[in-house]
Amino acid sequence: MRIAEIFYSIQGEGPAMGRPATFVRLAGCNLSCEGCDTYLKQWQELSLPSVLERIEGKRVVVTGGEPTLQISELSELIALFHEAGKEVHIETNGTNPIPEAVLRKIHYAVVSPKRGSDFHLAYWSGKENVHFKFVIGRSSWCWTSRLLEEQVPSLPKERVWIMAFGADPEMREAREAWDLALRLGVNYSDRLHIRLRRR
Ligand code: SF4
Repeated sequence: MRIAEIFYSIQGEGPAMGRPATFVRLAGCNLSCEGCDTYLKQWQELSLPSVLERIEGKRVVVTGGEPTLQISELSELIALFHEAGKEVHIETNGTNPIPEAVLRKIHYAVVSPKRGSDFHLAYWSGKENVHFKFVIGRSSWCWTSRLLEEQVPSLPKERVWIMAFGADPEMREAREAWDLALRLGVNYSDRLHIRLRRR
């Protein structure tokens, strides 16, 4: 499996914000969002048991890049984590479906739809363990308040998160994200790792 990095940290955003986890970052993505450095990341080929060996604690966040690009090995890896009693989370851009049988072994799947991509909101919104994380910002793939006002009302509110884009701790759009989340009755997510300059 192509792995960019594995590290232990605290989840800084979304429904598991503040919780410790081992992050398994898979290599490669099918999108090329402005400002994303995923294509710069080196990767190594690791066997599934050796990935499991590197997991600290009970929670694992599989992220990317786009993890579903390696769906066959990803499915096996999630089964392995599940059998080992791990709480598995996954972060995806939503452009590829995750099979029902795999999704059932996942505690939270966080779909972060990128504006302009084919992200299948209707498919994901029917899945109880799927949360949506929309990023407000000025990049071409980010959402504006106006576009979210149209998208969000058709989704399950308790599973929707609005978050500001930010690689710098100031996060200019954070207040806008907060106000919009309040107005729409959905969740606000901060980016704690960015605020605190952690990974
Ligand atoms: S979907 Fe995520 S990983 Fe892929 S290019 Fe966009 S921001 Fe980067």
